[in-house]
This record gives sequence, C-alpha cells and structure tokens, in this order.
Amino acid sequence: MVNSYYYNGNEYIPKDANAGSTGFILASLASSAIMGTLPAFAKPFNKQLIKEHSQNHLYKDAFEKSLEVSGLDKKGVEIIPAQYLNDMSDVFCGQNAYYTPKRKTITINTDKISIAGFHEAGHALNDLKGKFGKILSKLRYPGYVAAAWMGFVAMFSRPKPKDAPKDVIDHIKDNCGKIAFACWLPTVLEEGMASYKGIKLARKTGLAEPLIKNMKKLYAKALLTYAGRATATGLAVGAASMIMDYFTRPKKVEIPKFSLF
Ligand SMILES: [Zn+2]
Repeated sequence: MVNSYYYNGNEYIPKDANAGSTGFILASLASSAIMGTLPAFAKPFNKQLIKEHSQNHLYKDAFEKSLEVSGLDKKGVEIIPAQYLNDMSDVFCGQNAYYTPKRKTITINTDKISIAGFHEAGHALNDLKGKFGKILSKLRYPGYVAAAWMGFVAMFSRPKPKDAPKDVIDHIKDNCGKIAFACWLPTVLEEGMASYKGIKLARKTGLAEPLIKNMKKLYAKALLTYAGRATATGLAVGAASMIMDYFTRPKKVEIPKFSLF
C-alpha cells in the first residue's frame, strides 16, 4: 500500500509504478490505433492520382506552360521530369511530386501526373511570391518536430495533484493534444493555399473547366490527407495524455460526509 499525503487540505494517494506502466502501454496502444487510421484518409487521393495517369496528356502542355504564365520561370523555378531519374522512387512512378524551396525545383513525373504539377507550382508561388505563404512554409518543419515532441510529453507521468500550482510543463502536458493539432495547422493551411493558387494558375494557362473541376476533386482529396493527419495526431496525443493522466495522477481521497440530520 502506498502512503497517502495531504495537500491543500485534501488527502491524496499517489499512483504506484505499476499503474504508470499499464497507462504507458494503454496510451501507446490507443495512439497507434488512432494513427492507424491515416491510410484511410490518404486512400481517396492515392486512388485518383493513379487514375490520372491515363489522362495525363490533357494536363501536360498546360502544366509545362505554367511556369512561364505565372512568372515562376523568371524567379528561377525549374521542373525536374522525374521519369528520367529512373530511381524507382514514388516520384518516378508518378505517385508523388514535390517542390524543393532550396533549389526552386518541382520534381514530378510529367508523363504521368502533370495534374499535380499545378499544386507544386502553388507551393513555389507561396514560397516566392507571398509573405504569408512563405511564413507558413517555414513553420512546417518546426511544426512536425513540435508535434512529435507533444507525443513524448503525453507519455510523461502526472505526479502532481490536480489542484497543485501549475508550471509551464504542466500546462503543456494538459494541452499537448491541442498543441500537437495546432502544430500541424501551418502545413494544412499552406497545402490549401498551394492548391488554391495552383487551380487559379491552371485557369490562367487556359485549361478547360471540366479538367479544372477534376483537378479540384483531386486537390480536395489531397487536403483531406493533411487534415486527417492533423486531426489524428491531435487525437492520438490527446488520448495518450488522458490515459497517462488517469493512471498516474494522485487520487484524491473522498472523505465521506456525515450528517446528523
Ligand atoms: Zn503540397
């Protein structure tokens, strides 16, 4: 039996180490179960992207014109056609594309997924032609790191009684799920902006409206992937935190109140 102690006029029983280990295991299980839902969020996007391979020719010319139309070529942006890389990466296979701010390059298989290229050009526009977009893109990486740290913080034990004065770490522990979610928001927002600008640019290149409509569908599914990641991370960290709180927070001893009447 663990000895109880008094704090602020209340009696508390600290949780023993075994409860902490149980909490740790359950918290890990809960968070990995939640993170396990991620492929479901990405599925609609991946499915459509593969389908787009067959109608790539409808988008290719417009995409290749897009750097000139947007003026990105004058800013030094270049396309790296991934079909010539021959490295069997997902980019080579037309399952992914990316913009590299450092080199100002869009790496994409233009024989398969030119439709995705406008979105990458949107990232370049965020990076090179807008202050807000640039700030958001700079926040992405620190956001991932901070969100991962929240995952660790969630697993810390809670040795203080609930009504004890809180320091900064306690506040972070209490809100780690919300913070982890917030850390993902710059990414979600920047992705959304890249798509918005990409669609606008596609219109400028003269792409027909039915093709734009199809593109919007693909981009909405891409955004769902990111929004899903933000939500799942927030929920996973939040659930782990709640479980650790339950298993490690000292338990208040309720004193039965007797009344004569
Ligand atoms: Zn993107």
